[in-house]
Amino acid sequence: MTVGRAAEDQEGRLDVIERRPPAARDVVRPEPVRTCTGCRRRGARSVLLRLVAVEVDGAPVVVLDHDRTMPGRGAWLHPDLSCLELALRRSAVARSLHLAGPVDLTGMVEQVRALLNGMVE
Ligand SMILES: [Zn+2]
Repeated sequence: MTVGRAAEDQEGRLDVIERRPPAARDVVRPEPVRTCTGCRRRGARSVLLRLVAVEVDGAPVVVLDHDRTMPGRGAWLHPDLSCLELALRRSAVARSLHLAGPVDLTGMVEQVRALLNGMVE
């Protein structure tokens, strides 16, 4: 006595297609990206620190722009000491801010270090 087993061929052949609603994808907006002045790698704007130059007694002084809202050209940096050191070693901050001549970075360095120390806990 033979039993028809045609159904066996079908078993396990159904590909499981995970269907996501297309709308869910459209909602995701691409995050603005900036280049780190230290390592030159790119990162999300919301992750990188922003540095700006302000004028103090006629001389440019670079400070940390905590809220990333200060006017003027910004330089971007990963919240990472090695990126800060790279940027300092290559004088990249002044360059990316288009500053000529000596620039006071000490305040910025202290601000960034303090911020990073606070992050590490
Ligand atoms: Zn970096």
